[in-house]
Amino acid sequence: IYLNLKREEKNIPIVFIERIEEIREHLASFNYTDLVIFSDKLVYRLYKDFIESLKPTYLYLFDEGEESKSIESYLKAIDYLLEKNIDRKALFVAIGGGVVGDVVGFVASTYKRGVRLIHIPTTLLSMVDSSIGGKTGINYKSYKNQIGTFYQPEMIIICPKFLETLPKSEILSGLGEIIKYGFTLDRSILGMKERFEKDVFDIFHDRMLAMQLIKKSINCKVKIVEKDEKESLLREVLNFGHTVGHALETYYNYYFSHGIFIILGMIAEMILSNMIFNFDLSNVDFLIRILEKNNIKLPQKFDKNQIISIMKHDKKNINASIRMVLLKDVCDYVLGYEVNEDILYEVLGRFEKIV
Ligand code: NAD
Ligand code: ZN
Repeated sequence: IYLNLKREEKNIPIVFIERIEEIREHLASFNYTDLVIFSDKLVYRLYKDFIESLKPTYLYLFDEGEESKSIESYLKAIDYLLEKNIDRKALFVAIGGGVVGDVVGFVASTYKRGVRLIHIPTTLLSMVDSSIGGKTGINYKSYKNQIGTFYQPEMIIICPKFLETLPKSEILSGLGEIIKYGFTLDRSILGMKERFEKDVFDIFHDRMLAMQLIKKSINCKVKIVEKDEKESLLREVLNFGHTVGHALETYYNYYFSHGIFIILGMIAEMILSNMIFNFDLSNVDFLIRILEKNNIKLPQKFDKNQIISIMKHDKKNINASIRMVLLKDVCDYVLGYEVNEDILYEVLGRFEKIV
């Protein structure tokens, strides 16, 4: 056990393992009637032999991609469970990225009022972010995560071996969130800055370094979640880069993986931090170098007013004013800073010139 996350009366072990095969022993420590494994079709193709070797009573596969976080896909999974007559004493295991984790989390928390769940995140983003903290959710109409619950798993098993099959864009996406933790909560993550500017594959093929970065990131998330499970003020800090990042993500219709939009969002929010708090712009240069190294360029120009209007509809804004997390310095943040539209327009103008 790497550490125990404490939520109300519950201890949630976050376990690190080196070999994927060790998962079997961890599952064996639970009592259950049926073992129900959920994954997506792509992960299943890559890890078929391993998943089969766990001898699931039932195996349920989602299509890969965000589409699986829909009401229809949720109901299809529920129908399957009902049809198989699966009871509350089953053990659910979610093997996959954030999409599988979020939808299975929601299934587990609602099916017969709750079935025990184990998260086995297989993307970098899900290891350092989505599997930790107990948020589950599906999308509704065109809005993300509008229906969901807080539901803590019995255990989270992290095996960095899964990262070996992950495409570069998904590694970079997870790195975006890791860098966010570096700028907001743990500056030691940025101690490896030069390595980030090299090949991202390179970092995550260095087992020790990968493990260190993942652990430091999880520590950041755990620290915040333990203090503040239900998203009041403190948890806001995790949204650094996300106000602009989400707007770009919507505007460009998910053209890049999530964490890449967060890198872009952090650049814009750092420019704003510079205008308001004189935040050091060399940090922006660092992020730009990462994007350049990985050939990330916005596919076409954006409409500044439209981006601002998307931000106003962001669920985090009370009374439609735009609030965000800004930085005075690395790991010295200001929560809920209310930004006026004129300044935002200017920020986006500077931003579009450099990305
Ligand atoms: P994802 O689950 O869509 O995975 C990305 C792609 O990688 C998919 O095609 C998947 O099939 C594939 N994949 C997964 N593991 C692989 C592996 N080991 N090797 C090769 N390919 C693999 O995306 P994600 O980035 O993991 O998660 C994004 C989702 O997480 C979003 O829906 C977002 O809303 C959610 N999220 C939730 C929270 C939370 O707190 N619950 C936090 C952040 C993000
Ligand atoms: Zn994010």
